Amino acid sequence: MDAPLFPLFADLKGRAVLVVGGGSVAERKTEALLHAGALPRVGAPQLSPGLQGLADAGKVQWLQGSFDTRWLDADIWLVIAATDDAAINRDVAAAADARRLFANVVDDAQLSAFHVPAIVERGPLQIAISSGGGAPMVARHVRRRIESLFDQAWGQLAELVSRKRGLIREQLPDLAARRRFFDRLVEGPVLDLLRRHQSVDAQCQLLQDLGSEAATPSGSVVLVGAGSGDPGLLTLNALRALNQADVILHDRLVSAEVLQLARRDADYIEVGKSAQGHSTAQEHIHALMLEHARAGKRVVRLKGGDAFVFGRGGEELQFLRGHGVPYEVVPGITAALACAAYAGIPLTHRDHAQQLRLVTAHCKDSLDTLDWTTLAQPRQTLVFYMGVAALAQIRTHLLDAGLPAATPIALVENGSRSNQRVVSSQLRNLPEAARQHQVQSPALLIVGEVAALTNELHWFGDAPLLAPATVSSLSAKTSSPTLADAA
Ligand code: SAH
Repeated sequence: MDAPLFPLFADLKGRAVLVVGGGSVAERKTEALLHAGALPRVGAPQLSPGLQGLADAGKVQWLQGSFDTRWLDADIWLVIAATDDAAINRDVAAAADARRLFANVVDDAQLSAFHVPAIVERGPLQIAISSGGGAPMVARHVRRRIESLFDQAWGQLAELVSRKRGLIREQLPDLAARRRFFDRLVEGPVLDLLRRHQSVDAQCQLLQDLGSEAATPSGSVVLVGAGSGDPGLLTLNALRALNQADVILHDRLVSAEVLQLARRDADYIEVGKSAQGHSTAQEHIHALMLEHARAGKRVVRLKGGDAFVFGRGGEELQFLRGHGVPYEVVPGITAALACAAYAGIPLTHRDHAQQLRLVTAHCKDSLDTLDWTTLAQPRQTLVFYMGVAALAQIRTHLLDAGLPAATPIALVENGSRSNQRVVSSQLRNLPEAARQHQVQSPALLIVGEVAALTNELHWFGDAPLLAPATVSSLSAKTSSPTLADAA
């Protein structure tokens, strides 16, 4: 592809522009130039009645005659060739080029050193559209769409804001605060008042909004669940919060693809904790949230999965509540749901499981505090988070509590990501299976009859890895094993 055009809005007020041609096209170009405050000089043997009128009124200067390169020697800034004679247009372009003047040849993108874009004009707000000269029809369609997106009230808003610009800067010297004010402005009542032509009320409303933003620099925190890795698992609310954020405090578990969807000029701070989850790290996160919210920033606290499922979201909200910082919560797709879906493991199934338990293998005290008798009950699915380091203990506890050794298990590593791996085995082989395939964190352990269904229902990434190999013949025989089979 050729290099694109450099977009540019030129200030032509009081500057002479040469228009070569005296017909209707030249007339339109001359009027556009007058609209921009330029001083058009029209060179042509004859003028259209419209141009003649402008010349008679002293609005344009008429250079009578055929094109003469000397027309370019005076104080000309720009040139427009608008004759219906291709040879003359080419001469004009060449002569302008030789003098390093920018020339536009109407309807000839090749010969033009500058293009005139299609425009949507709303007061001082101008939206210019260009296809680089190659596809003007596409540009026209885009223009028509934009026309319907922005009504005249936007022009009035731009005009009002530009009148109050100095005041806004003075009252809100902080860029983040100004941005917040404008975000609210375009969603608030000011535009509606302008639409109803109540411009005095609109101005009062703007000043009132400005005053309240200046009085209470309202920083806040949005606790956002980012899902398990696939950016498609973000909710629309999460996306909006990410696009409005001034500061993003994200965990290590949040994938790069998700971060790419957030606002480019936000501050990104990784506050990842390692598997040991130090409380000092947590205090540091609290301090960062408070510091930025108090500075009036919109803070997004972005967590893998869901913030309220083994995410310490509760502790963070208690801290924020205690310090009077306003907050919101956006739920996310937790690892149990994402890993199960992407591994083809229905967490409940009428034939296999009527209960689902989400369990953390990383307890504050020790694994002994979990109620293993309940966990070993039949017809339920267990999902262990943070279990990779404790697989041997989990097996011992479950076997001791009476769960059959042949109960299917699945380990889902990097669930929903492009490098997802699923290891399918039985409880009796749990730690060995993980070791055989070198399963690494983040990985989720699913225990229960439904875990075997991955071999039948998997659809994402590579087929499940079997461990040890003998299990493959077992699971092939019983594609939907029951506890009776297993026992
Ligand atoms: N709040 C998160 C869980 C945080 S605890 C959520 O709702 O998902 C971290 C544990 O989640 C990891 O140790 C792992 O067991 C699990 N986990 C998170 N993302 C995962 C992924 N993409 N694949 C597998 N396990 C994942």
